[in-house]
Amino acid sequence: MNPARPGDPGATRECPHCRETILESAMVCPACRHHLRYGASVDAPSAPALTPLSIEGSIRHPADSEPWEYTVVVTIRDDLGVEIARKLIGVGAIDAHEQRSFTLSVEAVPAKRRVSGKGGTRH
Ligand SMILES: [Zn+2]
Repeated sequence: MNPARPGDPGATRECPHCRETILESAMVCPACRHHLRYGASVDAPSAPALTPLSIEGSIRHPADSEPWEYTVVVTIRDDLGVEIARKLIGVGAIDAHEQRSFTLSVEAVPAKRRVSGKGGTRH
């Protein structure tokens, strides 16, 4: 992996509340939904988030038989198909005729690339 430097698009930090790795630019932690104060620019209102991908689906246990155990895994791949993230979201069990719903959404906001002076990228 190639972590982005602070200030660059994709730069991350740790949520002080839940310790999840989140975007440096996030004003609300998407995991625990706590508001975050530092790190986010207050003067620049953030652009509305796009949702270029949103998938909802559900599974229903089909019959009176043994319960199912399920595992929810999300993977992210780059444009070469290389896996760059893999996360176990949750596990559980579902009894006969029960239902579970799952929602996957990808939010995106325009991010300005910080213009760096000295110490920037060298060619
Ligand atoms: Zn959090």
